[in-house]
Formats: sequence, structure tokens, C-alpha cells
Amino acid sequence: MKELKEYVRSIPDFPEPGIIFRDVTTILQDPDGLCLSIDELREKLQGIDYDMIVGPESRGFIFGVPVAYAEHKAFIPVRKKGKLPCETVSIDYDLEYGKETIEIHKDAIKPGDKVVIVDDLIATGGTTEAIAKLVEGLGGRIVKIVFVMELEGLKGRKKLLKYDVDSLIKYE
Ligand code: 5GP
Repeated sequence: MKELKEYVRSIPDFPEPGIIFRDVTTILQDPDGLCLSIDELREKLQGIDYDMIVGPESRGFIFGVPVAYAEHKAFIPVRKKGKLPCETVSIDYDLEYGKETIEIHKDAIKPGDKVVIVDDLIATGGTTEAIAKLVEGLGGRIVKIVFVMELEGLKGRKKLLKYDVDSLIKYE
């Protein structure tokens, strides 16, 4: 049986020179890789009491929804500005180059809801930090954050020190 890391394709100089892009499509296009990724995420959530998974577009959807389905939890999408049809709360945050605005439906999380955040990868941690602020702004309580991949050298965990953070695959 292959390890999950062996399903990831690494692409040098994408999307910019000097960046190694970790491609999850090679996990997904193999039925064993897909099963393994979802099973390992589910294992990380064993024993955690939660109501819903929150995941950002688009790769957070790919990994968040199958886990939510299998565990019979709700899934709440975080989307880029202007995509959600009802009343939203939004937050701006800094990317390595430029800015991004993400949104969540205001009625999707109620005070006291126990939330797990799922995404494919943590780099600087900026995206997840912004999601955490949205969730907490609505009164949600973050009980766990889990990533398929973590770029440890970028020290994204430093932005998430107060949370229980885990990842399946670690890169330098
Ligand atoms: P951060 O906000 O932690 O700096 O960046 C994390 C976000 O960027 C994640 O939502 C992730 O999807 C995306 N991302 C950044 N680098 C990579 C990469 O090498 N591979 C993949 N699959 N996503 C990346």
C-alpha cells in the first residue's frame, strides 16, 4: 500500500519561479489515493466533538465535503467575494502577493457551534487565520483544524497557536 505522500505530484516553478507547487490532483485521480486521503482526515477527527466542517474554495471543498458526508456533519463553504447569494460576513487578508477577500453566509454558523476547518494545504497560514476570524465572529468555536499538507518552513502554525492543528503530510 502506497503512503499518501507518494500520491502528491510536486511541480517546480509553479505558479512562479522558485515555488514548488504540491499538486493534489494526483491524489484524487487514483481511487486508492482519494480513499486514503479522506480516511486519514477522518482518523484525525476521531474523538472530536463537532457540528460542522468549514472549508474554503476550492480544494477545501474537495476534502471537506467527503469527510462531512462520511461523518454525517454539515459542510459550510467559505467563498471568494461575491459568490454567496445570501447575507454574508467577509474579511480581507494578505496573500504573499496582493490581497484576497473571503466570505461566509451569516446564518451558517450559530453561537456555540463546534467547528472543524479543513483545507488541502497550509502555507503562511493567512487563509486559515482569516477563516478562523470569520467563524469566531459568528460565535463559532474552532475545535480542530486539519490539512492534507503542511509547508512547515513557512511557519503557518505560528498564526494558529491557540488551535488544535494537524496535517497528514509535512514538507520542509
Ligand atoms: P496560506 O494562506 O496558508 O499562505 O496558503 C494556503 C492556501 O493556498 C490554501 O488554500 C492552498 O489551497 C493554497 N496553496 C498554496 N500553495 C499551495 C500548493 O503548493 N499546493 C496546493 N495544492 N495549494 C496551495
